[in-house]
Amino acid sequence: MRTSPPVLCYHRIGGPLELGVTRVGRSVFARQMTALARAGWQTVSLAEFAGQTPHAARRTFLLTFDDGYSSLADHAYPVLTDLGFTATTFLITDFVGKTNTWDVRYTWNRLPHLSWSEIERGRARGFDFASHGATHRRLTWLGDAAIETELRSSREALMACLGPDAGRAVAYPFGAVTERVLELAQRAGYELGFGGVRGNGHRLQIARIPVYFWDAGDVPFGLREDGLGALGRIVAHAANRCAVGTSIIQGVGFRVSGVSPDTRHLTPEA
Ligand SMILES: [Zn+2]
Repeated sequence: MRTSPPVLCYHRIGGPLELGVTRVGRSVFARQMTALARAGWQTVSLAEFAGQTPHAARRTFLLTFDDGYSSLADHAYPVLTDLGFTATTFLITDFVGKTNTWDVRYTWNRLPHLSWSEIERGRARGFDFASHGATHRRLTWLGDAAIETELRSSREALMACLGPDAGRAVAYPFGAVTERVLELAQRAGYELGFGGVRGNGHRLQIARIPVYFWDAGDVPFGLREDGLGALGRIVAHAANRCAVGTSIIQGVGFRVSGVSPDTRHLTPEA
């Protein structure tokens, strides 16, 4: 069995500061991507990752963005185009072209999401788009019917707007996936599913390494082969697990006025 390239997961590049940990500054992102390109790393498309077309380069990775913030079009895609890199963006389909309702708790700003026309322009430049659910609900906390609705309606919206290739992959919100979610994703027609830091070898539960704001060196921990990389992946795993705090805070309807700085470690938005 062929080994898959590592998968890096970013959320928001640039834009307003936040209490959470998933925003990476534009200059840090540009420096990381430039350092990777200089070190001989190349990105793979989703089709290459899925194994449909071979990729010759030795050091390859799949670069992904969750949530589909519109700042990607200004701060991330141009950097990648200049370096000959591509990326896959996981969209919350009900929020395409709208502003979200959760980040206001961490940034004091409602953040806009990519519109379908911005997504079309990204596709024309070689970027891939896939599903991050319809409304960003944590699937592992839902009943089967609600999970199916999240997975199927987002896949249908993507395929209707972008064609059949856009129905290939899903990134589970918060990286939360169980055997039941995996089976429902498969039944909904997905070929690839991306979870948290630890995968299980199944194509519908592929591991990803999130890049948080403290991961600001030239080479993100997820692609480092040394001890620091291993340590960084452990920290990322712990932070990703803490993302459960985000869901709880959302669940009880906390507002930013009720979130003290001490709760920062609980708020990785995934
Ligand atoms: Zn997300």
